[in-house]
Amino acid sequence: MAKANYVRVIVDRAIHRELDYSVPESLAQRVGVGSRVRVPFRDKSVLATVVAVPEESEAKGIRPIEAIIGEAPVLSEQLLELARWIGPYYCCPIETVMRSMLPQVIRRAEVGWKKQLFVQPARKLDTDELEKLRKRAPRQAELLESISRLEAPMRAAQLLRETSLDNQTLRALVKRGLVELREEAVVRDPHADEQFIATSNLILNEEQTRALNEITRALHSPENARPILLYGVTGSGKTEIYLQAIQAALDRGRTAIVLVPEISLTPQTVERFKSRFADVQDAVAVLHSHLSEGERHDEWHKIHSDRAHIVIGARSAIFAPLKNLGLIVVDEEHETTYKQEEAPRYQARDVAVVRAKIEKCAVVLGSATPSLESYHNATIGKYRLVTLTQRIDEKQMPLMRIIDLRQERRKEKKAAILSEKLSQAIADRLEKREQTILFLNRRGFSTSLLCSNCGEARNCPNCSVTLTFHRHPAVAGRLSCHLCGHTAAVPKKCPACGHDALIYYGYGTEKVESTVAQIFPKAVVRRMDADSMTRKEAYRETLRNFRTGKIDILVGTQMIAKGLHFPNVTLVGIINADLALHLPDFRAGERTFQLLTQVAGRAGRGETPGEVFVQTYTPFSPSIQFARHHDFAGYFQQELEFRERCDFPPFKHAILITVRSVHEGRAKLSAETLKRRLKEALPKEFILGDATPAPLEKLQGQFRFHILIRGEAIMRLSRLVRETLDKLPFPEDVTVTVDVDPYQLL
Ligand code: ADP
Ligand code: ZN
Repeated sequence: MAKANYVRVIVDRAIHRELDYSVPESLAQRVGVGSRVRVPFRDKSVLATVVAVPEESEAKGIRPIEAIIGEAPVLSEQLLELARWIGPYYCCPIETVMRSMLPQVIRRAEVGWKKQLFVQPARKLDTDELEKLRKRAPRQAELLESISRLEAPMRAAQLLRETSLDNQTLRALVKRGLVELREEAVVRDPHADEQFIATSNLILNEEQTRALNEITRALHSPENARPILLYGVTGSGKTEIYLQAIQAALDRGRTAIVLVPEISLTPQTVERFKSRFADVQDAVAVLHSHLSEGERHDEWHKIHSDRAHIVIGARSAIFAPLKNLGLIVVDEEHETTYKQEEAPRYQARDVAVVRAKIEKCAVVLGSATPSLESYHNATIGKYRLVTLTQRIDEKQMPLMRIIDLRQERRKEKKAAILSEKLSQAIADRLEKREQTILFLNRRGFSTSLLCSNCGEARNCPNCSVTLTFHRHPAVAGRLSCHLCGHTAAVPKKCPACGHDALIYYGYGTEKVESTVAQIFPKAVVRRMDADSMTRKEAYRETLRNFRTGKIDILVGTQMIAKGLHFPNVTLVGIINADLALHLPDFRAGERTFQLLTQVAGRAGRGETPGEVFVQTYTPFSPSIQFARHHDFAGYFQQELEFRERCDFPPFKHAILITVRSVHEGRAKLSAETLKRRLKEALPKEFILGDATPAPLEKLQGQFRFHILIRGEAIMRLSRLVRETLDKLPFPEDVTVTVDVDPYQLL
């Protein structure tokens, strides 16, 4: 590293300013852009990241840095450049962005390598000495003999276990100078006990070959390449293309990142990548939210030190410190989990496109149901569209049957969970020993408890939603709020009117599970949702049992909608397709369309063609009708027309400001004041909405107000919003958050 006399840093505090420090002679060769340092700040000592190494500094009263944290710089110039884009775009201080870029363990450098003690003899064994020792301390002698027989240093813990001797005995030998203990770093590998057998490339079909060629061309000359949108129906072999594209990147000495939504980062997915590159040890690093701090530390260093060349991970893996990046793949690019719902509120897919531009590498966005944003970008030529129209097995897309719940209701005189047709279809599958998936995007048993006398529902005291009744042991027959976790006992009488007239209303996955089990007492029914999958192992276990055919019917939430391959599933039932459709959110229709298409992709991947039953009260809504005919282009055209007419994304960017407080009046007043200031600050080209109560008006005890702004020049809009907010003093108990390109509109 070149000698640094001064450094410019961003401290881990929200002060919106870069500060200069001098570098003591002794540290001058060890610090560079991206280094983590400890610096004096006001009267404290704080951690900071070096963002520049200026030759001179104009700063007055400059102070020296105190220490360097860790060894090599942790952030590359490219990642710093990325941070400088994310901050202003997402209307958020750059220090917050950098906090997201570096895992906590790396930022603070508190967790190090796992150290283990190894023993070895200090010198050659002297038999006289040994005999003397045997008289005085027979156990020490026994241990010394074992140690002197070692051919290589051995883990102390293992040796003590094998000899059944204790630590004290070992320490005594060390004290006598007969034995040496040494600390060595060992790597924590979350996949250490799994064996991966190398798989080789499959022979690509024509469509796949064309797609791969497009990607390798982008790898060759990323300067003139556009981001590639790989639109391929489920089972069209996208993952195989990613694998071969990664190989092509590695062949050129470059590295690759594969982003997958957290929910599809299943053992199956990881295994596919680990296996293909199993010949190179450590080749694939995996990053996700379930790693322990220690594992995260080790995986991160494996990447940073250039040992891992492929990173597969969820959202934040887009910040993986790979050098020489050649390819970024964003699988299931339409997934909203790529959006981070806390500051910095970045969208990892969009960040991927920007990082690719900075790193001059290829970027591929893949999906069976591309987001409207990406599809639009492809239509206007910003992205290059590559399509795969055929499933590998040349299976037909499953047959989709729409069941009109209004008619069912007229027949049955009450809302049925399973329509007659769906019931029959399940019975038929049970007979043929085929499997069924039932999907409902709502947990719990009953979604509300109503009084049939006065009509009062049991609401959460902290949120404006009803409490859900669970039977599941975790909440054991109580009412619980899915937003804040509040629970309450089921009252005997209506607390409002005192009548003994309480009825359960609405249903969730627990009720579906028990209903199905009642109708089909011989079938093995299991449920997979956030309640039943609290144990880490439960998820794998259920999947394994389903795969091996021990489960006939799997009931679940979106956990089961994505990325899982089960050849014996020939029936998928969507219990209620309307749940997403009626949310006050301009993406509600798009989400429903995607969900139906994704869930349908679970049916009939094997020899037998699949069937999908969609139960709905709105059978003629466009998202259901287009999904039914697998008419992606048709759906997009009409949805894009709607978005354009209403000035919604992708035609305009949106910024959603939420103002919240435990005091309703203060939240409202602050929101209204902010709206007035914005009106003064924003030019006419921006569409500024009123301060209105949020659809979810109360959440976790806070009252919430929204202001929605739309416009094209997002960087400019972001800056104006930030400046307006900075000038406006809000009361202590009022919190304002700014969400650029928002996905949560409730
Ligand atoms: P997608 O990611 O589009 O859902 P996959 O890559 O998972 O599709 O492919 C679906 C199935 O087809 C997988 O079992 C995969 O191993 C297999 N497959 C993919 N490409 C080929 C090919 N060229 N030849 C044979 N089988 C293939
Ligand atoms: Zn609540």
